[in-house]
Amino acid sequence: MRKFDYDLFVIGAGSGGVRASRIAAGHGARVAICEESRVGGTCVIRGCVPKKLLVFASQFAEAFQDCAGYGWQAEAPTFSWPDLIAAKDKEIDRLNKIYLKLLETAGVDLHMGRGRLVDEHTVEVGDKRFSAERILIAVGGRPWVPDIPGREHGITSDEAFDLEDLPRRVLIAGAGYIAVEFAGIFAGLGSEVTLAYRRDLILRGFDDDVRRAVEAGLAGRGIDIRYQVEPARLERSDHGIEVTFSDGSAQVVDQVMFATGREPYVWDLGLENAGVHLGPGNRIEVDEYSRTSAGHIFAVGDVTDRIALTPVALMEGHAFADTEFGGMDRPVEHANTPAAVFSQPPVGTVGLTEAEARDRGHAVRIFRSQFTPMKYTLSDRQEKALMKLVVDADTDRVLGCHVVGPDAPEMLQGFAVAVRAGLTKADFDRTIGIHPTSAEELVTLRQPVAD
Ligand code: NDP
Repeated sequence: MRKFDYDLFVIGAGSGGVRASRIAAGHGARVAICEESRVGGTCVIRGCVPKKLLVFASQFAEAFQDCAGYGWQAEAPTFSWPDLIAAKDKEIDRLNKIYLKLLETAGVDLHMGRGRLVDEHTVEVGDKRFSAERILIAVGGRPWVPDIPGREHGITSDEAFDLEDLPRRVLIAGAGYIAVEFAGIFAGLGSEVTLAYRRDLILRGFDDDVRRAVEAGLAGRGIDIRYQVEPARLERSDHGIEVTFSDGSAQVVDQVMFATGREPYVWDLGLENAGVHLGPGNRIEVDEYSRTSAGHIFAVGDVTDRIALTPVALMEGHAFADTEFGGMDRPVEHANTPAAVFSQPPVGTVGLTEAEARDRGHAVRIFRSQFTPMKYTLSDRQEKALMKLVVDADTDRVLGCHVVGPDAPEMLQGFAVAVRAGLTKADFDRTIGIHPTSAEELVTLRQPVAD
């Protein structure tokens, strides 16, 4: 008789959990997964996917502005937020059903409800208990909101996707991925947007040239960026939400959105019942095989706070399942993970920033180009794209590639292959450009920037 109900029980049916369960089942494991909300997780239900649909919607504003330069004359277009949200919801429902079908086809048992560890091999979901030889925790993260008076009057990205109306005036707190992406969404759709950030330049952690280029793009779209301030108090009044900032200044808006980071969703998981240790910031500590302090319990994705990106969670879940159930040896690899920010203008990036390369002791040659994208010539849009390569001066290896401008995220996927493969600047130079594109600039950067 089998000792456990399942070979693998996965808590959390987001990107990492679903991928791991399907791959493990494909390797012949008996797998179950539980989910307290909707199958698909943050990315599909209230993250990357609906966000990108909203970005598409907001980009039409720019297209309407630019089309006159190309001979189009159009009536002033109107926009309906409720229509957009309804269309977005329909698409998310469709994707949710696809995820459910994927689990069914893979033979994975789905138990709806919150999973909680009862002991080292038992998971409780509602009033049912299941035993499993191995357990995978893939519960993701949740928005984190600073503890200021009146914070309940604000929203996070979770609620932003389901607002009944488009706010006329929005304050966004924070200047990371979510803040700059939503600043562009709201501004494109017609809101007055203020972004308040406690430091002095948005997108900390990105290359400084990238940060300045995006800052210029946001300002050019009318977004009011306020540095060295953060909301200190929110009060609801007849006029909207009155925001008092840390410097004593005040502003009235219709919506305040906190984009002040996310935290691992470890609340009431029963980790202590199974000997799973937490690290700084309440992340679940794991090794390179995603193994926690309890040898047969693993964790992948945002709850481990390694790199909080969907494709990284997919890779971690896949590697775990291959190693534990497929007889392979697949440690996770996070080096040279490409990333995109779907801000307006968007960012695509891979590898080291200039500052990181210097900090790690590389002698670097920097290649940089700023130019008006061809599409903006006839429309007379005053915005420059940025292309930047960080090259090791000793080995000629391209350490980092950073792009801001139209199609940057699409462009970077291919260049990420090159950087990951360890190609040199000479390899880039030998590559023939595709003309006329913006991307060809990356293979025609001849002169390094003077130190
Ligand atoms: P980020 O970590 O990107 O940004 C958080 C922002 O909040 C920073 O500007 C940070 O400031 C600020 N902040 C943090 N703590 C406080 C505080 N106590 N008071 C005031 N401000 C504070 O988090 P996001 O929530 O934007 O996104 C979470 C993660 O989700 C990202 O890191 C990314 O991995 C992922 N994501 C990826 C996307 C993509 O791939 N396109 C899109 C959206 C999210 P400071 O710089 O000073 O720390």
